[in-house]
Amino acid sequence: MARDPKHDILFEPIQIGPKTLRNRFYQVPHCIGAGSDRPGFQAAHRSVKAEGGWAGINTEYCSIHPESDDTHRLSARLWDDGDVHNLRAMCDEVHRYGALAGVELWYGGAHSPNMESRSTPRGPSQYASEFETMTYCKEMDLNDIKQVQGYYVEAALRARDAGFDIVYVYGAHSYLPLQFLSPFYNKRTDHYGGSLENRARFWLETLEQVGRAVGKDCAIATRFAVDSLYGTSGIEAEVDGVKFAKLADPLVDVWDIDVGDIAEWGEDAGPSRFYLQGHQVPWTKFIKQVVKKPVLGVGRFTDPEKMVEIVTKGYADIIGAARPSIADPFLPKKIEEGRYDDIRVCIGCNVCISRWEIGGPPMICTQNATAGEEFRRGWHPEKFKKKGSQDSVLVIGAGPSGGECSRVLMERGYTVHLYDTAAKIGGHINELALLPGLGEWGYHRDYRETQITKLAKKNKECQVALGQKPMTATDALAYGADRIVIATGSSWNTDGTNCLSHDPIPGADASRDDQLTPEQVILGKKKIGKRVVIVNADTYFMAPSIAEKLAAAGHEVTLVTGVHLANYMHFTLEYPNMMRRLHELHVNVLEHEFCSKIEPGRMQAYNIWGDGSKRTYRGPGKPPRDENQSHHWIEFDSLILVTGRHSHDSLHRELHAKTGEWEKNGVKAVYLIGDAEAPRLIADATFSGHRLAREIEEANPQLPLPYKREVAKWGVAHVAGTSAALEYKV
Ligand code: ADP
Ligand code: SF4
Repeated sequence: MARDPKHDILFEPIQIGPKTLRNRFYQVPHCIGAGSDRPGFQAAHRSVKAEGGWAGINTEYCSIHPESDDTHRLSARLWDDGDVHNLRAMCDEVHRYGALAGVELWYGGAHSPNMESRSTPRGPSQYASEFETMTYCKEMDLNDIKQVQGYYVEAALRARDAGFDIVYVYGAHSYLPLQFLSPFYNKRTDHYGGSLENRARFWLETLEQVGRAVGKDCAIATRFAVDSLYGTSGIEAEVDGVKFAKLADPLVDVWDIDVGDIAEWGEDAGPSRFYLQGHQVPWTKFIKQVVKKPVLGVGRFTDPEKMVEIVTKGYADIIGAARPSIADPFLPKKIEEGRYDDIRVCIGCNVCISRWEIGGPPMICTQNATAGEEFRRGWHPEKFKKKGSQDSVLVIGAGPSGGECSRVLMERGYTVHLYDTAAKIGGHINELALLPGLGEWGYHRDYRETQITKLAKKNKECQVALGQKPMTATDALAYGADRIVIATGSSWNTDGTNCLSHDPIPGADASRDDQLTPEQVILGKKKIGKRVVIVNADTYFMAPSIAEKLAAAGHEVTLVTGVHLANYMHFTLEYPNMMRRLHELHVNVLEHEFCSKIEPGRMQAYNIWGDGSKRTYRGPGKPPRDENQSHHWIEFDSLILVTGRHSHDSLHRELHAKTGEWEKNGVKAVYLIGDAEAPRLIADATFSGHRLAREIEEANPQLPLPYKREVAKWGVAHVAGTSAALEYKV
């Protein structure tokens, strides 16, 4: 199928300085947890995007010097020849497919904790970071300024030597150039502080010096957060934003525009819970009107119609994307080939970001199970090894894990029967997508539903059996499949079992009319009274989502939470706006409190730090704390138990109890995946189905094959700032 001619404009090349982008699809810098230390991961991850049609592909933020060290998080680095060597592998891969490779030169100022290098970060004025704990910078004198600008130039030269085509001076997310520009950070009284011209001087000089060093060979880009969203105390687009853009325009070849800061960078990488596709367009187009150089902007663009509108209406010249390129590295190719319904649309959950924010582990993606697995497991997002046997597979459960497992098995040519009691593919996503702001999460289901339907049409032996009676072990054995995959999911506990006590809560019972599980709330199973109490022991989104839903519907909601409420939402960048939402809706949050017992119409709460609530000692010693006297009663009309989940693994257990019957029924193996094995993130449930489908012919497919680890090799050390590779012994 050919693309729709109205999308042609997205495939027109565009000049940026000395380089040409082959089309308008551009993967902006984004973190993956590879940096320079996992060069195979870095190269392979960016490579599939180049193959998938992106014209420009960047590293994540790339430190220019040990003074800018983000450990425990993982950035790329261009500190020495070792880094040049490692990042060259990425450039070579990107070039292999005709794309341009870009690098985002980063100096963090007070936002770099320098926990590995133990250097002192330098900044325009001395302040404590509002993002990092216990991190202050040294106020730069004029000599410091020269030195740090020298670091940018040295790193730019290394970038050129590694083969990069685009070199950024990174001034978004409140890093050093923006710290000089913004009065929030810059309190100087010399000619680098005060007026806009003075505050802009550091950034302009750095652009000029980097341009002089590598501008003939590389395009010079700058990433600029044109509005810090702090009002007059920071950068405002209409005031300093626009003025700076005009001043710097002659020094850049391409503008990369966004908004926000680092402490709340969910305003930039906007989760779908709060922001629609294209939410940053008003700022991008504002800057586009005043500069002459090409402009690119981001906003979770996945819809080609929207992209065409951006370019034809002159809002931006280039479509920037991080998350859409992770969820579907082949997005441009699919648009080019008119394969619109094959696009795996980013659901905007920010789970990709969460892994980097936690620090250390590789990125994962809810939609694309191959993200982060390109090198270490050798997985390609669009290519699958042909089936290794004639075995037929029965998959029971069409949620994220069973759906993904079936899709990949079908891609591999297996005969698959996908079976579910539910009338629709999607499992618990069908419920989650009904929660406030989570409609786009339904794209996860839609992608699998579309692909499975198409694949089942191609292979007439495949079947999708929905709306069936619950499958029993006897039915499964008699079904006639060679292999059986159990993907029967999980549900919320009905008896209050939780991570704090590892036991039920006395009196908790969701079969009563006045107590509910989250599923019962979402599906409207029971009448909910005016006064609602939510008992929470879950650290992700369910309790705040239920609170938001019910408070918005006019209930008086009290949320009693024995764990850090929504802790994981810090990592997905949803936390600040989620808390603002609960605040707006007057949800009463009782932190550090949990429930000791429930009686009709009331529950007993206690402070978890009161001694005896968890730590109790009955031996000869005496604990040094006072006895917990915080117990108090809270009345409710309805009580919601968000206390924990449990797997639906009984079918799997029953089948394993009948192993003696497998052979005569022709069953070779039974596997357990997804939440039915252990409740987990949708991304991990999806991964578990995907992995089993890729490895189903292995000796023991229930357990993952080992993956390639990239480890530092004993015997050679590199020293930052030098080109020496030192051989060493202890
Ligand atoms: P996961 O996240 O692991 O994919 P979900 O809970 O989203 O799990 O999906 C599990 C699916 O399995 C649901 O659609 C549910 O209807 C289905 N299911 C559970 N038990 C059975 C059973 N015995 N027979 C058929 N379908 C089942
Ligand atoms: Fe999009 Fe979620 Fe995948 Fe990130 S993890 S790319 S937000 S689908």
